[in-house]
Amino acid sequence: MTKTKIPKTHPRAKSLQVREKVNEGYSEGIMTEQGLIAHGRGEAFDYLLGEITISEATIAIKVAAATLLIAKNPIISVNGNVATLTPKEVVKLAKNVGAKIEVNLFHRTLEREKAIMKKLKSFGAKNVLGIGKEAAFEMNGLESSRRWMDPNGIMISDTVLVPLEDGDRTAELRKAGKTVITIDLNPLSRTAQTASLTIVDNIVRAMPLLLEETKKLKNIENDILKDMIKRFDNKVNLGKSLSYIIKRLEKDSVIRVNAQ
Ligand code: ATP
Repeated sequence: MTKTKIPKTHPRAKSLQVREKVNEGYSEGIMTEQGLIAHGRGEAFDYLLGEITISEATIAIKVAAATLLIAKNPIISVNGNVATLTPKEVVKLAKNVGAKIEVNLFHRTLEREKAIMKKLKSFGAKNVLGIGKEAAFEMNGLESSRRWMDPNGIMISDTVLVPLEDGDRTAELRKAGKTVITIDLNPLSRTAQTASLTIVDNIVRAMPLLLEETKKLKNIENDILKDMIKRFDNKVNLGKSLSYIIKRLEKDSVIRVNAQ
């Protein structure tokens, strides 16, 4: 695989560095071609956000940290893009909140599952669920390979972090009574709209922040965390994230028209 040196002075150096990582993930057999396309969709929305973590995302991250900390049986669902972009943070976050980790793929092969497990273990994961025959239970209402669940993992969890997810599974997880937290740059996606808690941000920015937030909140009393969660309205926060994009575009188009 050829590695391109990204000049630090490039105005969009960070985004290009992430693309290099994505390229690596693809070469390692962790990401698929379809994953590359999904990444492109994410990039487009990140461009609209201005490639920053907006205040609505910061609030959602705090509440997500509280939700993971009070969960009885939290789990992080990992696909190829997540394993490529934030493997270290997944492992650290799981340790910090006592969550399990389960691989869940739309384009499921044992080879990919093992490549993802290897990647996560290289960052210190002890146990990775959802590999091959371990993931033997089918989720109702889903036909894709994402329906397979590990009986010791997602199936018995109460709270699931599903970054970069598809809407069908999010809806089914909710129907199964689980609290679903997602990280999704597209506030209009079905996942963003159906999750219990939506962080509209790039996973490469959101995961380190989420990790830090769980460290800060770890010793806070459960009642205070529960109160934070109670006061949060996901629909309102999501609406504000969309308004942020709309306002930013209106402002930007005014600048461009004036410059002509
Ligand atoms: P849905 O089924 O929820 O409507 P979709 O069909 O767009 O979503 P996918 O094609 O699986 O779902 O795409 C995954 C989602 O992940 C997209 O909404 C995309 O914007 C988002 N995404 C891609 N890359 C990132 C990233 N780096 N950080 C956060 N979100 C991302």
